[in-house]
Formats: sequence, structure tokens, C-alpha cells
Amino acid sequence: MRHKKSKYNVIITEFPDSSLLIYNTRSGLFGKMNAKTRTLYERIETADISALDDDELQKNAKTMLEAGYIVDAELDETSLIVLQREIARCNTTSFGFTIAPTMDCNMCCPYCYEKKRASYMNAETQDAVVNFIKTHFDAYPTAKRLHITWYGGEPLLHKEAIYNISKTLIALCDEKNLTYQADIITNGVLLDEETAKRLAQECKIMSAQVTVDGLGPYHNKKRILKSGEDSYEIIIQNLETARKYLNISVRVNVDKQNAGQLEELAKVFFIEHGWSENPRLYFAPVENYDNSCVAEDTCLQLPEFAKINTDMTRVLYSFNQEVARRDLYPKRNIVHCGAENVYTYVIDPDGDLYKCWLDVGNKTFKCGSIDKPFLVTEEYARWVLSTLPDKCMQCEYLPICCGGCAAHRVRNDGGLHCAHTLYNYKDMLKLAYEDYLAQQATGIIQNVEGNG
Ligand code: SF4
Ligand code: SF4
Ligand code: SF4
Repeated sequence: MRHKKSKYNVIITEFPDSSLLIYNTRSGLFGKMNAKTRTLYERIETADISALDDDELQKNAKTMLEAGYIVDAELDETSLIVLQREIARCNTTSFGFTIAPTMDCNMCCPYCYEKKRASYMNAETQDAVVNFIKTHFDAYPTAKRLHITWYGGEPLLHKEAIYNISKTLIALCDEKNLTYQADIITNGVLLDEETAKRLAQECKIMSAQVTVDGLGPYHNKKRILKSGEDSYEIIIQNLETARKYLNISVRVNVDKQNAGQLEELAKVFFIEHGWSENPRLYFAPVENYDNSCVAEDTCLQLPEFAKINTDMTRVLYSFNQEVARRDLYPKRNIVHCGAENVYTYVIDPDGDLYKCWLDVGNKTFKCGSIDKPFLVTEEYARWVLSTLPDKCMQCEYLPICCGGCAAHRVRNDGGLHCAHTLYNYKDMLKLAYEDYLAQQATGIIQNVEGNG
């Protein structure tokens, strides 16, 4: 059998002795290739690896094959990735729905892209939502899992809907022997201990995403409560109690204004509160979806954000290596997000359906309604029939990024929006290697030479 180099190999570092740190974005395996093995790798198109008479090279050729650094000469890797993506988009074993029980919010953040209306899901619509989800299980006996994300507006402004729908869906899943999982995206202001306990125990919500945008004074200017109260202390107090019941990710939306205080915020979490793992801090760029931050010129370019994120990863690593280590490796994806999947929807309080979280409540982008399951509308088709741009088909980062956020492609006529991790994954892998050297532990990187 003939072989060739994988087109998804990325050279992270070339050492003076010609050995390489090499990462394959399709297999996700990262290793050090010694100079001798590299010589074989460089001439792999003409080599017959089954006829190698050097035991070490033969062993390393096998490892390169397993790690995906070399592949069957006839394999079209990009077509395989696209095929896997198309199969995943039609998945009928795992169903995921995002439900916004209200579009109302108790905050008025300046960068909010949501079209907030004080609409609340009524009891009739709550029943109809359950029925809509049930039609999928009736239609597809292949179903094994249901995942619900609670979203808004601020979903905890309508807790009763969350309790009611969860109770019925959990009973339905029990009856059909399906696994039920849920999470919630909340601003955290109403996430008091009693609520967190009920969400975990009655609604099987495992995790929550809460936003903290910086140190208290800054956060209070960005995450503005309509009541005029400061939200920072309320949220911090809620994190302290809610962490007993939920795994909490604290998202920090980073722009030019708060980039300078992230390290101080990390100290507040790790040192002042002793929160090293739960809540877990992570950073995301404030994105320019609707020109809201063009006016203020506060958004960071993605490469700028990526640099900040790498620096902050070093800071978090200095506080807790074990936790920070989990984020050093890029994560292989099949589809960038559920918006492109056939059976994934966001449901608004009126029972209207959308594909993308950004659009929920904006009737212009409604793609259907819970009254009409499986109806292929023009808006729906724009998402589920979207294809990858030519540039992505040539891109070595495709297996991680999967074409980026589809909203930019669908809305901006094919516009590309590369994942911000594109700009720092090589630096993160260098950190992973430094971590490996510091630890000299086994299993941190897959090592092609097998001897460190
Ligand atoms: S908390 Fe979320 S939904 Fe509410 S205003 Fe802020 S960004 Fe918008
Ligand atoms: S969106 Fe950008 S990073 Fe992602 S696959 Fe396409 S070209 Fe590559
Ligand atoms: S398409 Fe983009 S904005 Fe919409 S849900 Fe997916 S990642 Fe988010």
C-alpha cells in the first residue's frame, strides 16, 4: 500500500536537530518526530513501509499511520471530513433544542444583539413545545439522547416554564428510555441557591454559563441591571452558592476596554475566592454581529483577541495547571454548531423556530413553527443546505473550525468567519509542549519517537 503525508499536518516547531513537533488537526494527535523518522516522513510517497528493514523506523511508521500523519495515498481526507459533516448534520440519535422561555431581560447590556420583547411563553405553548419535541422521537425510533439548552433573554425570568417543560420532557425521556441532559445560559442575577438547587435536582441541568465582564466597577457599567442596582456582587454571591449544584462556566466578553483587567479578575476568582475549577473562567471576543460595536470601535480584531487569550491561558496555568491543561489542545469538531443541523432548533416564547441563537425572537429570520414539524422553509434551507466555502476546503484548520460560524456565511452571502482559535492554536500547542517538558509525565503528548 502506498502512503502520503496528511494534508492536515501542521508543523508547530522545527528543532535545530531537524526533529519536529507535529500536530494533525484531523486526528487531534500531537507528537515529536525525531530526525530519523522525519527522513522517512519526507519521502513517504515513494517508501514502502511494509518493507522497511529498520525496526525503529517500522515501529514509527506504524505510529505515524495511527496518528494520521501519513495516510493511504488514495484517501481524499477533505471529502471524508465533508462526508462526516453531512452525516452528523442528519443525526437522528441525539436531538438538541434551545428554548427561550422569555425574550425579556432584567439587564440592558450595550452590546446585546437580542431583539428583546417582553414576551413570555404561555402554558399552551409550553405544552406545544413538548409535543413538537415528541414528534421527533415518534418519527425517529433511533433517538437515544435529548439535550436542552435554556436561553433567552434571561431564561430565569420565567422559571416556571423551565420547571414545567423540564418535568414533562424528563418524564417523556424516562418513558422512552432516552438520556436527558440540559444546560442554561443566564446572566446569573436570579441564580440564587434555591433556584440552582431546583434547576439541578428537578430539571437535570448540569451546567450553567454566566457572564462576568470584568472587575466590579467595569462589569457594573457593561452588565447593567434595569433596576439600576449593581449586578456584580449579586452574581458573585450567586456563583458561590450555585457552584454546589451546577458546573459553572464564567464567560468574560473581551473587548479593548476590559482587556487590561483580565489578570486581576483571574486573581479575584482564583486567589480571593479560591475558585480554580468551578466556576471555570473563560474568555470570548465581543463580536461585531450587528455593527453595535463599530460605533464605539471597541471590538478587538480576532488575532488581537487570540493573543490576549494565549496570555491569559498562561496566567490561568500559573494558578492551576491541571485545569488550564484541558484547554491547551484544539478540539476536533464535525459541525461548527447546531444551527447547520437538520433537527436542531431554537424555539422562541411564541413557539417560532430559528436556526441560530443570534436570531431568536427576530421574526424576519423565523424558519418555522412548532405547529408545523418538519416543514422545509426557505430560511430553514439556507442553513441546512449551506456548504463549505472553497477556502475552507483548502484550509488545514478545517477539522477544528468546520467552516466557522455559519451566521456569517448565511447572512453575509458566503462571508468567512474563522474561529478565533485559528490565530493561537499553534501557540497553545507550544504551551502544551512546555507543560509536557515541565511535567515529564506520560500521556500528555502522543510521542512519535517514543523516548521523550
Ligand atoms: S444579559 Fe444577555 S440578553 Fe440580557 S441584555 Fe445582557 S446580553 Fe442581552
Ligand atoms: S472558516 Fe477559516 S479557519 Fe475555518 S475552515 Fe474556513 S478558512 Fe479555515
Ligand atoms: S451560527 Fe454562529 S452565531 Fe449562530 S449559533 Fe452557530 S456559532 Fe452561534
